Amino acid sequence: MPRRPLDVLRDIFGYDAFRGRQAEIIDHVVAGGDCLVVMPTGGGKSLCYQVPALCRAGVGIVVSPLIALMQDQVEALRQLGVRAAALNSALDAGAARAVERALRNGDLDLLYVAPERLMTERFLDLLDEAPIALFAIDEAHCVSQWGHDFRPEYLQLDVLHRRFPQVPRIGLTATADGPTRRDIATRLGLEEAPLFMAGFDRPNIRYTVVPKIEPRAGLKRFLDGRRGQAGVIYCMSRAKVETMAEWCVAQGFNALPYHAGLDRDLRARNHDRFLKDEGVIMVATIAFGMGIDKPDVRFVVHLDLPKTIEAYYQETGRAGRDGLPSEALLFYGIEDVARLRQLMAGSEAAEAFKRVERSKLEALLGFCETARCRRQVLLSYFGETDTRPCGNCDTCLHPVETRDGTVEAQKALSAVYRTGERFGAVHVIDVLTGNETEKVRQFGHHTIKTFGIGKDQPKDFWRGVLRQLAALGFIEVDLERHGALVLTDECRPVLRGEQRVELRIDPPKVTAARGEKRR
Ligand code: ADP
Ligand code: ZN
Repeated sequence: MPRRPLDVLRDIFGYDAFRGRQAEIIDHVVAGGDCLVVMPTGGGKSLCYQVPALCRAGVGIVVSPLIALMQDQVEALRQLGVRAAALNSALDAGAARAVERALRNGDLDLLYVAPERLMTERFLDLLDEAPIALFAIDEAHCVSQWGHDFRPEYLQLDVLHRRFPQVPRIGLTATADGPTRRDIATRLGLEEAPLFMAGFDRPNIRYTVVPKIEPRAGLKRFLDGRRGQAGVIYCMSRAKVETMAEWCVAQGFNALPYHAGLDRDLRARNHDRFLKDEGVIMVATIAFGMGIDKPDVRFVVHLDLPKTIEAYYQETGRAGRDGLPSEALLFYGIEDVARLRQLMAGSEAAEAFKRVERSKLEALLGFCETARCRRQVLLSYFGETDTRPCGNCDTCLHPVETRDGTVEAQKALSAVYRTGERFGAVHVIDVLTGNETEKVRQFGHHTIKTFGIGKDQPKDFWRGVLRQLAALGFIEVDLERHGALVLTDECRPVLRGEQRVELRIDPPKVTAARGEKRR
């Protein structure tokens, strides 16, 4: 008698109802369909294959690279009365034979196998004899070279669908930017299969991105409104962690530094205090991440741009695990764009890899410069496109105005050009606003045509224009030459008046204080 998914959920797992898209996914697999499931960690992926395995005839084969976790899952399933077993290198020969015998006799509901074990001819022959309910490919991103967990054995898993075409396959992962997603689908032969993505929204986190103008003043205002709350402040470098931690302490905040260069004991002690004491602010590099099991982290601040949207999502996701209102504040400036572009240009990676990295950077910059709801941009990056403006991010709360900025873009670009593409933003802005500094006079820049053509706008306005032009790829920042601004080929149509440039109007002041007022 085939069992119904909801009965299995209630009778075996003891839960009342499916969560999110579980029911949809499970129905699809029970009916024999393939699919790819992308959900964040803790989203409830396991039931998506465990329940169908119990509803369909035969054994569910689960491919997993994590031998250490396999045994835990098998134990947990056995506790529930499910006939589960694992087959991996941790087993001795006798135990492995017993599992194989159980498989042949149809005595198993679920069998977890390491990929290298699964791919042996001997094991595949065994599978020919046993009816199979489904193949679940856990940690499916391991098949992709774009991820950081690439496992060559995973590449051979496409054998499954050629050798057992009638058996449904379900790939599962928590990591899923566009390129990785497509790569997984291609390599596992799941191009035609539906993609189920869900659970990425963290509605209690309010996202705010502010231009990096006087970041310390902005940070101070933000922290003043949150005295006594626990939070994390991420910085790009160890040196910056140390100076910012000291600065926070000097401002009267209970802050501690954390980075991989600190003495082990000190690191452990700081970590411990963050977890146990109330209201500690951890100023850290991304080395601080694993094992932050603290539910009441009220804010995560990024003083520098994170590497990718995934990284940003993961780092900000450490806020508000208790579901209470929390903040994610990101400071973003032209030097961040420059630094990331330079990191990429200097990498030794293959061209295809760099192309993916570039598209990830573009996505991140798009997120920073968007005039749309930030949450929608974030979620659509993870494939959730049927969302509405959230009402709980800076752009929803304070809609961003955009306007035709073609003329301003032309002014800024020509100021860069006419000063010889040798100067940084500060000097270019001095020229634009007609600020006759010593340096301006030294280079005779007070005599050029562009001197003062932007004096109707304040410096911060021009800073915003230059940052957006960098984000849009019209100018590059040469870090080798002290941040000199350089024009790219892409800016030609703008200078010739053939391309319109839409600019967002930055808020006039550092707006980090926004979050202070809760509605
Ligand atoms: P993932 O594999 O996506 O990281 P898990 O499958 O381990 O997540 O599930 C995370 C937790 O949520 C587990 O403790 C699981 O028992 C629980 N869970 C999953 N689905 C449900 C549900 N429908 N009802 C109640 N609890 C659930
Ligand atoms: Zn929003």
